[in-house]
Amino acid sequence: MAPHAEIEVAGFTDTSSVVKVEVNDSAQTKISGMTPARPVFTIDDVLPHRQKSKPPPTIVAAFSDANMFKSKGCLEGKPKAKSFAHRLTAESKSRKPSSLKGAMKYFKQGTISLCGGLPSSEYFPFEELSAKIPTAPEFTEAQTATSGKSYSSGKHDATRDGKALLDLSIALNYGQSMGPGALIRFLTEHTEIVHSPPYSDWDICMTSGSTSALDVALRMFTERGQYVLTEEYTFSSAIETVVPLWAKMLGVKMDADGMLPDDLDNILSNWDEKARRAPKPFLVYTVPTGQNPTASTQSLQRRKQIYAVAEKHDLFILEDEPYYFLQMDPFVSGHTHAVSSPFEPVSVADFLSNLVPSYLSIDTSGRVLRLDSFSKIIAPGSRAGWVTGAPQVIERFMRHNEVSAQTPSGFSLIALYNLLEENWGHKGFLEWLMFIRAEYTRRRDIIVNACEEHLPSEVCSWVPPKAGMFHWIHVDLTRHPVYKAKGGKQIDVASLLEIEDSVFTSCAEQGVLIAKGSWFRAQKATDTELFFRTTFAAAPADKMREAIEKVGVAIRKEFEIDIEDEIVVKGSTNGHAK
Ligand code: PLP
Repeated sequence: MAPHAEIEVAGFTDTSSVVKVEVNDSAQTKISGMTPARPVFTIDDVLPHRQKSKPPPTIVAAFSDANMFKSKGCLEGKPKAKSFAHRLTAESKSRKPSSLKGAMKYFKQGTISLCGGLPSSEYFPFEELSAKIPTAPEFTEAQTATSGKSYSSGKHDATRDGKALLDLSIALNYGQSMGPGALIRFLTEHTEIVHSPPYSDWDICMTSGSTSALDVALRMFTERGQYVLTEEYTFSSAIETVVPLWAKMLGVKMDADGMLPDDLDNILSNWDEKARRAPKPFLVYTVPTGQNPTASTQSLQRRKQIYAVAEKHDLFILEDEPYYFLQMDPFVSGHTHAVSSPFEPVSVADFLSNLVPSYLSIDTSGRVLRLDSFSKIIAPGSRAGWVTGAPQVIERFMRHNEVSAQTPSGFSLIALYNLLEENWGHKGFLEWLMFIRAEYTRRRDIIVNACEEHLPSEVCSWVPPKAGMFHWIHVDLTRHPVYKAKGGKQIDVASLLEIEDSVFTSCAEQGVLIAKGSWFRAQKATDTELFFRTTFAAAPADKMREAIEKVGVAIRKEFEIDIEDEIVVKGSTNGHAK
């Protein structure tokens, strides 16, 4: 891994993530009143647009797609996506539409269906499902307990009573693989508001979460013997999904801003099929924001550079973004950002304009498949998310979905529909995202401050995360007794893994679990440096501090550091300042 950028400790405003008008400029142009460079769609446009458009269908297993709900500005005046059919695997190309699901297009009011095995909803033992949810912006658990709203979904709210767009009779039955129309409409509007893709014919398919979506996507684009390009350290499940496809991950060098475009270009420009015994790769799997495990976050400039390499080498990008909305204010040593109580959301325009634009928002060709998930922003057990991309790619994705997960669970669908569509709306949802972003910022501050206090600064360094849920800690192997015993020669992989395991076990013996960096290494057994991943997502503040203190004990023990002799390096000279 390339050296990280210098630690940022000053309390400055990080403007690298501010959206400029040339890209996803909706918020900026609305604020400044400039003539938009291209049509924009904001939360204020949702209602008038809905009033002029057809509502989502309210029959069981109805078809829908994003085009049914897009604004005029999106549908007109933008080019169409290019074809990426040449990148699809034989498996993906060979998929035929599901005969049974396809038959539903002949279904209209009054049709008597003796076709699909869709049970009658009278045999669903759920007349009503209720839940209590926070009322925006009173989002805390305590506030929800007192001021939360209880709602209930009935079996026939949509189909018989016409008072909703989704009910239990629809959600709990089989549905089309893209998901129910009411949610496709919400997600289409969300996509326009947040990403405003530069081409017109993008489509959406709901997924059973990004793990499942990634499995589908990798099978769509990866033949046996191919390489998939990714960050040097990457999401372990992605590696574990690629391996059984008889394919391999190839790690591209990275720094705190993620994948290095020059290295990506270099690998591709100098690809030697014979030496590598593999065709030139074209699939890039990347986690651009709050990357798992390194927390690296690609700036807009970095994304544009990588996209330019993708255009040059005709790559296809899988943009896996579960942490996209958890983009934080910069860390300031010794300071913990407080979450205002009552929570005061900023304006939606401000929130959106401070997010680093997505690949989807700069994708002029349609070479990006974006994976979104409700896991980290609503609940992992929802097993729900969505993918957005070029129509041809989404069509192939749906063919796969039809014969695998089909749709997220109907219980999730009805809960998400009620939360997002009936209660929060786009504003409430975005305010919720602001709230959890503030919560994770506070938690990030707690863990990083604890590291400053408890980890030996001569061997441990890090870059404070700018997004996500992870804190990635580098431990300097050259300070290990084995390195000294070897006369300063590079520590071999086996010894590195032993040292890593020893720290891991010593933490576990003290009742603390951390993740080994080697688990995330894109190419196994090529490690040259020692890292540990910690998460600030789960433990309460005092437990996080206690755990980091114990990690410090484990590292000191392994590196034979006597706490008495330690040079205490704090604040601006901590971490990566060497
Ligand atoms: N992608 C990345 C980068 C992740 O870090 C995770 C979860 O840790 C996932 C996907 C899994 O998402 P889901 O719960 O939607 O399957």
